[in-house]
Amino acid sequence: MKIFIYDQYMFPLSDNHRFPIGKYQLLRQAIEMDGIVAPDDLIVPTPATINQLQRAHSDEYLDKVENGRFSPSEIRQIGLPWSPELVLRCKHSVGATIAACRVALQEGVAATLGGGTHHASRDAGEGFCIYNDTAVAARTMQAEGRVQRVAVIDCDVHQGNGTAQITTGDDSIFTFSIHGEKNFPFNKIPSDLDIGLPDDTGDEAYLSALSQGVEQTLKQAQPDLVIYLAGADVFEGDRLGRLCLTKAGIGARDRFVLSRCQEAGVPVAVTMAGGYGRSIQETVAIQLQTIQMAVKL
Ligand SMILES: [Zn+2]
Repeated sequence: MKIFIYDQYMFPLSDNHRFPIGKYQLLRQAIEMDGIVAPDDLIVPTPATINQLQRAHSDEYLDKVENGRFSPSEIRQIGLPWSPELVLRCKHSVGATIAACRVALQEGVAATLGGGTHHASRDAGEGFCIYNDTAVAARTMQAEGRVQRVAVIDCDVHQGNGTAQITTGDDSIFTFSIHGEKNFPFNKIPSDLDIGLPDDTGDEAYLSALSQGVEQTLKQAQPDLVIYLAGADVFEGDRLGRLCLTKAGIGARDRFVLSRCQEAGVPVAVTMAGGYGRSIQETVAIQLQTIQMAVKL
């Protein structure tokens, strides 16, 4: 299985920042040590082009990102300090999701060790998200004539408001978000299918709701490609999560989504999305488990 990586593109961040920048390199190293894929299958993608980013974002917004012309409140909303290095990293993040989609369409499955920046909307960044990799990649696959219909299965604990906003009125992209109802973002934008769960939901109730949501998504969307946001922030040890899934429960989630797509004959591009474990090693272990699950299938 091919896995796209971009942790080499670092950007300036204070030591005590909430964004877990160290996670990306630790996850890559964990995969290398585990030996689940050949070293050649860990690939640095080309960055997304402005032309590709325009498929999901306005020219005004892209110009603002390029030149760092954000107001202090916009920077607060994004939660990351602007720098040219940050922009370059984000372009590689989107490039990784695009590449994972292309390869998934040829080989059935592929992954990126990042992506899932689902709070970025057409004209604004939010919650550590600058560009919406999912929307850009889905529309790029369509523009390249590789697919007609795409489904997004968003299992990050936070609602996929940016993806929903960008694809509102676009019947060719079906968005399904299963998330903590009381969690960020507080202004949720309706997806095609939303399942909002209470705090402390736990494995059993989560998996039951997920199963219904995935079945409805596959049936209604009839997708040629699924983009799966395998957020690790549903974990009980997450600082921002609150849904309280165990590591085994998250494994069951990944297995269910991946095997149902496989049975339905739909290729899957896997993105990592959020993960803010009180222990960064736990977040890495959960995301490693997701990758192992995808490789096995
Ligand atoms: Zn999240």
